Amino acid sequence: MSFTAPLLAWQGIHGRHDLPWQKTQDAYRIWLSEIMLQQTQVTTVIPYYQRFLDSFPNVIQLAEAPIEKVIEHWAGLGYYARARNLHRCAQQVTEHYGGQFPDDPEKLAELPGIGRSTAAAIAAFAYGKQAAILDGNVKRVLCRHFGIDGFPGLAAVDRKLWLLAESLLPESGIESYTQGLMDLGATVCTRNRPRCTDCPVAADCIARRENRQKELPVARPKKMVPERHSCFVLISDGRGLLLERRPPSGLWGGLLVPPEGEPDAVSSRYGLNILSARHLPPLKHTFTHFKLQIEAVLCHVSPESVVRESGLEWVALEQAADAGVPTPMRKLIRLVANAKD
Ligand code: SF4
Repeated sequence: MSFTAPLLAWQGIHGRHDLPWQKTQDAYRIWLSEIMLQQTQVTTVIPYYQRFLDSFPNVIQLAEAPIEKVIEHWAGLGYYARARNLHRCAQQVTEHYGGQFPDDPEKLAELPGIGRSTAAAIAAFAYGKQAAILDGNVKRVLCRHFGIDGFPGLAAVDRKLWLLAESLLPESGIESYTQGLMDLGATVCTRNRPRCTDCPVAADCIARRENRQKELPVARPKKMVPERHSCFVLISDGRGLLLERRPPSGLWGGLLVPPEGEPDAVSSRYGLNILSARHLPPLKHTFTHFKLQIEAVLCHVSPESVVRESGLEWVALEQAADAGVPTPMRKLIRLVANAKD
């Protein structure tokens, strides 16, 4: 196999062999390290792991310890749900399995805080079981090497990755292979700077061949932001600009904005006599929940069409941009004011 065999050989020479939780088949120690490593770097985990073992040398002692003491030992590692699950898991292993972690990955995955991938790692390292891991690092390696498109968080892609991970398992040497996958993801096929020249599986790697290391794995799709369209009429009598004060709540609440609507509708709303009209360059403005396509029309009106209505204000052209108007309107007003100079 062009993936499994070179990875196994590489792990023997270049992989990590001296981590404190290696060279043991004690499921308790392996489980503890796997949980600690779920969201935390190896270098941070090492002193915590050692302190934990000093205070709770086996699963029964951990189960019997008060939760406060467990949390105290976890303090600084973050993601405290892990510590609470750790304690609950220790209690269940003690109660249901007599203090012995089961060797069946499915049974392991039923325990608190142990997902399918962690269950496989424990089963492989502690009991030599043929079980596939698939954590974030492994997903990255597989997506790149096998050129798997699609966001790995999608159910269909996730299924495909599990099938692939299972199909790659070696006939023997599951411990070294599992460790090799972890080592490759953590030290060579890293998120930002994969070291393809040092990679044991580079020869058949699709991402490398197609130079798609940055594209794979596919990032979480961005939420579609709806688009709206609005027309604003910048009404000028040559000296001032007619602005409308928005109601206090809603979009641009309380700000001054040029009247919104098509020029004909706006002019008949305010009884304006439009002398000329010209379109200004369109603008796009992004809000948190939508994008606004802004069409703007500059209309010159005869000076006598001065409107006096509550909520409407004539503001001198030179001052209008700084009169409490929203950002995209400021851009438009500056355009009009500069064209006047
Ligand atoms: Fe990752 Fe590069 Fe190796 Fe491909 S060749 S698996 S991208 S490190």
